[in-house]
Amino acid sequence: EANSGDSHILMLPFMAHGHLIPFLELAKLILRRSSVFTVIIACTPSNIQYIRSTVSAAVKIQLAELHYSSSGHNLPANTENTENLSPEQIVTLLNSSTALELPLRRLITDIIKKEGRPPVCIISDLFFGWSVAVARSFNVPIFNFTTCGAYGTLAYISLWLNLPHRSTPADDFSVPGFPEGCRFHRSQLNQFVLAADGTDSWSKFFQPQLSSALCSDGWLCNTVEEVESFGLRHLRDYIKIPVWAIGPLLPESTSRRWGKEKDSGVHLENCINWLNSHSKNSVLYISFGSQNTISETQMLELAHGLEESGKAFIWMVRPPLGHDMKAEFRADEWLPERFEERMKERNGGLLIRNWAPQLDILSHEAVGAFLSHCGWNSMVESLSQGVPMIGWPMAAEQAYNSKMMVEEMGVGVELTRGREREIQRGKVKKMIEMVMGEGGKGEEMRKKAAIVKDKMTAAVKDYNEKGSSVRSLEEFLAIIPTITSQEMKLKT
Ligand code: UDP
Repeated sequence: EANSGDSHILMLPFMAHGHLIPFLELAKLILRRSSVFTVIIACTPSNIQYIRSTVSAAVKIQLAELHYSSSGHNLPANTENTENLSPEQIVTLLNSSTALELPLRRLITDIIKKEGRPPVCIISDLFFGWSVAVARSFNVPIFNFTTCGAYGTLAYISLWLNLPHRSTPADDFSVPGFPEGCRFHRSQLNQFVLAADGTDSWSKFFQPQLSSALCSDGWLCNTVEEVESFGLRHLRDYIKIPVWAIGPLLPESTSRRWGKEKDSGVHLENCINWLNSHSKNSVLYISFGSQNTISETQMLELAHGLEESGKAFIWMVRPPLGHDMKAEFRADEWLPERFEERMKERNGGLLIRNWAPQLDILSHEAVGAFLSHCGWNSMVESLSQGVPMIGWPMAAEQAYNSKMMVEEMGVGVELTRGREREIQRGKVKKMIEMVMGEGGKGEEMRKKAAIVKDKMTAAVKDYNEKGSSVRSLEEFLAIIPTITSQEMKLKT
């Protein structure tokens, strides 16, 4: 319930786990840093319910439901989040999200009725370009929050807006916004942008939405000035609106999961106990994020490679491609014979089903590397703990993140890309040994990852000389009322 006279910041996350979590953390951060503003997060009913289940009552975030009915958009009933959706369903969900415009207008109208004025600003998802026109019509400043890094965001928007790969037969090409020497390869593009021609359902969503987002008053980015100076410089040059680097936004706990909170409590205890029995930097953590899985043959090869490397691991397993990701994981069918039992016997590997308490795992000193799909939240979480990475990007902007991690940061290597490529156990074994080995390249990557960790820690320091992300957020919060008053001046 809103109190009369409050200065509300209205936040609009897209309906995906990788968006909701950073939005929620941004909301908490704003509340910690400001005594002036209150925060309302608005989203579809089941996503609001999810947020409610993860925040403690002590956090004074207000929640507002935006009416949404998935069955009205050719989606199964009660489908409001990308979790466990097929690509076709995801693009349908994306396109259907523009229908939130009317409920959003109603919400703002209600706030005006109650408070006598609209929210002081809107912080909207990069995918919700349509919200810029809504904000303008109410004379409310609007900012977009990109839940990707600066490099990944620039690659993502420029590829969608320019489709540069379409104007060349070559396999590698330059991408507007990046220096000429920074070439991209077709195999790094996600399958939808690769196949896009401007008339497909993905382009039809992303092109107008991203173009509109470029017309907002500025962007907030979950990254750190000192960590992503290259990406930020080129992003700012390209979009020509202010970008505030306010990261890293880390979840307080990743052990809770959609409707499965009880299971993950057990997971957390299991994992920590198990990790306690391993020495420093000796465990590889493996996860492909909240919405990806690999193929059956890839899974087998990965398992063999792991076993041959002899390194201990925690693997967040999901049914392979072509199966319901929420279904039970059938280890006897999808993994080498007696794999799980063998790993158990020699305390060599722990399989976690469905959902792992990721940040708790990454922050344990036993973890020495992370085999990851390079989702931005996973990268931020890994680097914030100084854990080097083995990349296996799958979708979205993940291959651009992986490219940056290898070329710009030197904190990891890429094992393979996508769900179709053949992957051999020998390569898996070699790469694990290289990254987790003493001395050599692995040592170098660990050192670099430790430096990134220090930079991230310094960026959020809020005493004596404040860190860059703290100053950046303060600057952003200070600017909101000035934009409002400029708008008011224009009106009078
Ligand atoms: N996550 C988790 N346990 C899991 C899988 C994912 O806690 O088993 C969390 C992870 O810590 C991160 C988010 O879910 O905060 C995934 O976001 P990311 O951007 O890495 O990838 P996405 O899921 O969006 O592809």
